[in-house]
Amino acid sequence: MADEQCIHDLSPLSCAVCSPPARASVAAFVIYDYGPWVEAGFPGRCADCGETVSPGDQIRADGQGGWLCGMCGEIPGEFSRSDWDWS
Ligand SMILES: [Zn+2]
Ligand SMILES: [Zn+2]
Repeated sequence: MADEQCIHDLSPLSCAVCSPPARASVAAFVIYDYGPWVEAGFPGRCADCGETVSPGDQIRADGQGGWLCGMCGEIPGEFSRSDWDWS
């Protein structure tokens, strides 16, 4: 692992103890466990808003066994984990 880690075994920027207060908001980032967008192959229901999902709609796994509709699966400023580079 190339990342530098603090004594708390965290990235120094995401560690609330080691990072200065101004950067503490970085820790507020939620790591989403959503799967890739896929086309629904069957009618279903969004695990979040309960909206009906129709075959052909864009849905994604919520990481907890459910599926999210296009609205709920949207992550503001989404980036892939491989882009997680604070250096
Ligand atoms: Zn720390
Ligand atoms: Zn939804």
